[in-house]
Amino acid sequence: MKHNTNDPEWGIETIAIHAGQQPDPHTGAVTVPVYQTSTYEQDAVGQDRGYEYSRTGNPTRDALETSIASLEGGDFGRAFASGMAAEDTILRLLNPGDHVVMGNDAYGGTFRLISKVLTRFNIDWTAVNFANPTEIEEAITGNTRMLWTETPSNPLLSVVDIEMLAALAHANGAWCVVDNTFATPYLQQPLSLGADFVVHSATKYLGGHSDVVGGFIAMNSAELDENIGFLQNAIGAIPAPWDCYLLLRGIKTLPVRMDRHCENAEKIVDFLTTHKKVDEVLYPGLESHQTYKVAEKQMKKYGGMVSFTVKGGGEEARKIVGHTKVFTLAESLGAVESLIEVPAAMTHLSAEGSPLEVDDSLIRLSVGIETADDLLNDLDQALSY
Ligand SMILES: *Cc1c(COP(=O)(O)O)cnc(C)c1O
Repeated sequence: MKHNTNDPEWGIETIAIHAGQQPDPHTGAVTVPVYQTSTYEQDAVGQDRGYEYSRTGNPTRDALETSIASLEGGDFGRAFASGMAAEDTILRLLNPGDHVVMGNDAYGGTFRLISKVLTRFNIDWTAVNFANPTEIEEAITGNTRMLWTETPSNPLLSVVDIEMLAALAHANGAWCVVDNTFATPYLQQPLSLGADFVVHSATKYLGGHSDVVGGFIAMNSAELDENIGFLQNAIGAIPAPWDCYLLLRGIKTLPVRMDRHCENAEKIVDFLTTHKKVDEVLYPGLESHQTYKVAEKQMKKYGGMVSFTVKGGGEEARKIVGHTKVFTLAESLGAVESLIEVPAAMTHLSAEGSPLEVDDSLIRLSVGIETADDLLNDLDQALSY
């Protein structure tokens, strides 16, 4: 879907509310209607009014595609049933014999898809530390077609220099794919830094309310959009109109939610860095974090995700997360409510023994938008349970 409806002067808050979400031309409805239909009447054989079948196109999905593409500063966007469906669709641009280089702290599902599914189709991969350009260069082979990154990464929250990665990809005839789920377009816009594809789990901050699963791809190239659009229709991993509506509803408040996520996360980081039970705090905005310089250059603020290790190891970490009352013990992230988890035993359990394995004393927080003091008090009492 080409986004062509927003004023180039608009700020991101205006884009979040208006791009793709103009009043309905037929009725004036201020909210984009849920076009819950599978098919469309044709005026004569082969003469449709822009839509023929909802796998191929649906007005509610079009609105979502315009909305997120606009937020990413991209000319094109395609919506999917989940983040993994979006990732799978991009990866199907590859052919047998091709090679992917990814960060060694990629999302577990990305790692599983590439290492356990795509390898069956003779697509090869290497996972390296993306904070180190030399390691990336050494991993690139004559068959490398994609450099795949997530920044900030999960759960170590290290930041990858997108401009550097895109330049490296293009110098080697490869595409640069950036998973922008953690940062959101409010904090960074990878296409403007040279990325070819931005991929999202819209399930997280874009939706923002833990009530919908969705995915997205944003691009600037008409040719790539055509290829992705062909695959979107051919594979059919599209989101339902109702889910598109929920995402559109969530997106309207993305900028204000992100501001509060960041503000609360910063307060929690301050609290944790001086706590005697805490070993190390990982947050992109901490000057002590190894990738701080890149984060400062690349991100507007530093996000709502905070990780930290506790003294006493994995057993202690599990006890602490069992004692919170405001933070909910759960996987996932990016919604209004605060979540807490132990990656080694939950989100990253399948990474055991792989390059993605994480320290079992690591706790990951998805900081929500509740009253900051309630979050601080909750962590304080859980840490001294
Ligand atoms: C959740 C997540 C995904 C996968 O998205 P789903 O919507 O769960 O399919 C991909 N990347 C990141 C960074 C995620 O957090």
